[in-house]
Amino acid sequence: MLAAPLRAFFLFLSNRRWVARFALRLGLARRMAFRFVAGTTLDDAVEAVRALNAGGARATLDVLGEAVADRAMAEGAARAYVTTIERIAFEGLDANVSLKLTQMGLDLGVDACLEVMKPVVEAGDRHGVFVRIDMESSAHTDRTLEVVRRLRAAGHDVGPVLQAYLHRSMDDVRPLAADRVRTRICKGAYAEPPGIAWQARDDINRSFVALCTHLLDADAEPAVATHDPDMLEAVKRVVAERAIPFDRFEFQLLYGIRRDLQEQLLADGYRLRVYVPYGTEWYPYFMRRLAERPANVAFLVRSLFGERRARG
Ligand SMILES: Cc1cc2nc3c(=O)[nH]c(=O)nc-3n(C[C@H](O)[C@H](O)[C@H](O)COP(=O)(O)OP(=O)(O)OC[C@H]3O[C@@H](n4cnc5c(N)ncnc54)[C@H](O)[C@@H]3O)c2cc1C
Repeated sequence: MLAAPLRAFFLFLSNRRWVARFALRLGLARRMAFRFVAGTTLDDAVEAVRALNAGGARATLDVLGEAVADRAMAEGAARAYVTTIERIAFEGLDANVSLKLTQMGLDLGVDACLEVMKPVVEAGDRHGVFVRIDMESSAHTDRTLEVVRRLRAAGHDVGPVLQAYLHRSMDDVRPLAADRVRTRICKGAYAEPPGIAWQARDDINRSFVALCTHLLDADAEPAVATHDPDMLEAVKRVVAERAIPFDRFEFQLLYGIRRDLQEQLLADGYRLRVYVPYGTEWYPYFMRRLAERPANVAFLVRSLFGERRARG
């Protein structure tokens, strides 16, 4: 019963910079965040990817950051992605990258964002590393899809994410499926109003399966991004009914979440890619992970009191 207000509360905190400054000083929040984050440096991330690859999983690397309102900072983030892509190639890792366009200056305008993105997509092309464009709040959906369209029209290997909770996603998926654009489907991690987004779990789940099925039928190599066992089973059923080969899609899970499911998917012969975030800007990412699962919050609160008692 408390889940919905807690979710709203943590999503509210996710874009409050003063809370971020406070949280960054809290040792325990930091330690807990690093359950979901591979580390602060590229070396940390490479080590995590090596371990995943050794176990048979692929990875997608996210250099944490978002909502950058300054061109120089956006260009700095783009350089971090170029370095990450070069390192993936140099190390021969089975990995690609995922990025958020607000980190690449989307709020400065679509044209500015395309300029900032240029070295990233060129590095991706040079090294054969696919660039996944994460989906953010609905205020950015149109502009994100426009950037993806324009980058693809210029011949770059990029693909978007659609969120099952948005009513519009069924319309958005059709042209992507028709062009066989590699698209990730997720439930959606932001606070969106009932006018534009399903709120009930059953509605979101129905939309999730419909979107995945549409992309599977179009042989568009979808990425099925969820930890929900019901969704995993539903997509496996669609795949079995249509005898779709396992190399025509992949499951994707987040680093540090449901490792049991990750291992089971690999043992059953499915393709698995793990989303591996790294960097110092972990606060909003961490808040969204707390919002998704109240049990994470309870754990954090218990640990915080434990920490106080231990200090006092
Ligand atoms: C690879 C990947 C990429 C994503 N990219 C985007 C994106 O670009 N844009 C976007 O809006 N969202 C993105 N998301 C997040 C997504 O939208 C959901 O918020 C998130 O995956 C939780 O939904 P779920 O499908 O796992 O199902 P839920 O019904 O939320 O969870 C099902 C079960 O998964 C486990 N679980 C889920 N979340 C957590 C957690 N935080 N901690 C511990 N256990 C958990 C629990 O066991 C839970 O019962 C991505 C998710 C994944 C896996």
